[in-house]
Amino acid sequence: MTHDIQTFRIGRFAAHLIQDGLFQIPAETLLRLGRSKKVDRSSKARLLLGLTCMVLQDGDHVILIDTGLGDKPLGNLASEYAVEFPRQLVPSLKGLEIAPPDVDLVILSHLHWDHAGGSTTLNDRGEVVPAFPNATYIVQRAEWQWAASPEGQASGSYHGEDFVPLEAAGKLQLVKGDEEVYPGIQVELTAGHCPGHQVVWVEDGGDTVLFPADMIPTPQFLTLDRVLTYDHAPIDLVAAKRELIRRAVDFQAVVVFQHVPRRRTGVLRRSASNQILLQRQ
Ligand SMILES: [Zn+2]
Repeated sequence: MTHDIQTFRIGRFAAHLIQDGLFQIPAETLLRLGRSKKVDRSSKARLLLGLTCMVLQDGDHVILIDTGLGDKPLGNLASEYAVEFPRQLVPSLKGLEIAPPDVDLVILSHLHWDHAGGSTTLNDRGEVVPAFPNATYIVQRAEWQWAASPEGQASGSYHGEDFVPLEAAGKLQLVKGDEEVYPGIQVELTAGHCPGHQVVWVEDGGDTVLFPADMIPTPQFLTLDRVLTYDHAPIDLVAAKRELIRRAVDFQAVVVFQHVPRRRTGVLRRSASNQILLQRQ
């Protein structure tokens, strides 16, 4: 396939959105909070989703936000989620003349398999090692602890080989809450989808970009009470989402919808009747 890369500027940063692949989830996993819906188990309706990673370059450093599915064997996931052309991240980076050792910082919104899978890779000896050998990987402390807990493990969304080797290699940096992790790049703890989920704000030269990850995975989720069955604490998620949307409108931020297959950015506006409108970019 041809590489699907969308490039734009955020002040001094060149930003690139890279599609690592496509996958599908059952349409019945979309819910409206508080409204009971008869789940039709026989329904074959599926929702097609993208796996967007964002790369930022300012001439000094290369920063990567989320790592997609990666190139380790996917096992059952490949058929269960109808995964198509995964592992485009590294070839697409190569197209931008970025080799894995060039990446300085990897920010992981959370550790679910579809966001952190490409953080590690297999070396020649078949050992699982960091895929970006010179990078520091930034994860919320709460996410790290949750992913290792029995409850987190029971969710089925975490695969230890995606992230445990980062710690062993001394490449892990745990942050707590909101923090500027690089000049102009701020992470913000937003619990709800999982206990240690973080969003990323990039601000430079008067431009603001919000990478909300699974807080607003596609524009459908701009509807406040729309949630996923995968969400850990939907009520917390809706409250945090309301606040994020308010600030995205106030800052006229460009929002990156990570799980949209195409046309992944837009600006939010509030109409006279207080509706949130999306202007695609
Ligand atoms: Zn996701």
